[in-house]
Amino acid sequence: MLKQKFTKKVLIPLAACMAIASPGVAQEPTTPGGPSTNGNDTLNSIVTYEDMQKTLHKIEHSSHGLGKVEVFTLDQYGKTEQNRSIYAATIGTGKTKVWIQAQIHGDEKLVTEAALQILKNLSSSQNADVETILEELTIYVIPMYNPDGSIMNKRQTLVQETGQYVDLNRDWKEEGGFEAKESLTVYKYWVEVKPDYAIDLHHQGFKTVYGTNESTSFSLGVSLAPDGPTLPNIYDGLYNKVTKQMVTYVYDELNKYGYTHIDRYQVGAGEQKYDIDIKGGVVSGMMLGLDYDGLNPEKHSNPAIFFETKGNSREGGLGQKSNGYLTKQNYQALKAILYGIASKEVFDVEEERWYEIPAYPVAGYQTDTGIIPKID
Ligand SMILES: [Zn+2]
Repeated sequence: MLKQKFTKKVLIPLAACMAIASPGVAQEPTTPGGPSTNGNDTLNSIVTYEDMQKTLHKIEHSSHGLGKVEVFTLDQYGKTEQNRSIYAATIGTGKTKVWIQAQIHGDEKLVTEAALQILKNLSSSQNADVETILEELTIYVIPMYNPDGSIMNKRQTLVQETGQYVDLNRDWKEEGGFEAKESLTVYKYWVEVKPDYAIDLHHQGFKTVYGTNESTSFSLGVSLAPDGPTLPNIYDGLYNKVTKQMVTYVYDELNKYGYTHIDRYQVGAGEQKYDIDIKGGVVSGMMLGLDYDGLNPEKHSNPAIFFETKGNSREGGLGQKSNGYLTKQNYQALKAILYGIASKEVFDVEEERWYEIPAYPVAGYQTDTGIIPKID
């Protein structure tokens, strides 16, 4: 039975990562026991919480010089609901700070491996592009934001006090937010770091590229829709522009590598597609300069984008065959944006080229509280 859950054919067409759960709503537990690899060879390449710790320490020990990696926990800020440590790693010596977070949704597994691979590559490569990245940037990586969810193989974490499953990517809200310990822990670290840019890594369910029958392998998005109801109105539209440039840059680079079936992230059934505009998302909170409980009095903020890789272990779609390909694509997208920021090439991109990335006509916006139709 378990095996069937993870075969490629069990796909739910409408499920898209950023839009499934509503704030604070308890969801039914899914696969109990989590993604054990016992007798299930389709999940062999999935990184567990323990694997992650081991791999991080291995990378740290073999790193040196410009590519030195520091590994640590966020225990000084807090732990998970089930009292686990959240791990972080830094690399690079530059002034510009880039934040990378992976697996805030515990059933989105391949992104952790991509985050580890980028650390490994940056710490061991002699390549000139890598040198530029390490000289210009300091990179802060959280490879597994939601260890409890990962172990439970669930999107959410389980808040011990209330018994409610909470989506950590809806929990960064000034009011009524921070239900889960993970949220405050990572938030305190973010306030301390004050990054300049952030990249958030996810998985999504099955969808097709607009105008084709081709299944999307990778989607690029911004959690507050560019040219949507929120982003153009903050910081004089600066993030509206920068996020479009960042996404378009990654799209161009992946095309150069020969990747296809990449589109803009959208949600919704059939031809009715919506851009998302979700304020309680972590990277949205970052863009909005969330000041929770007076911890961010300077209202630090940073632009952020996210990547969505095909498939998750909740609804199937992770097969051993494609895992390598998908992880590599994710890793190359990460490397591209890091180089683009380090070299400042990102800022040469014409923002209107965002509209060249395949996407359905926007019917409206999926917000925290429902759909807002688009008015032209
Ligand atoms: Zn997700």
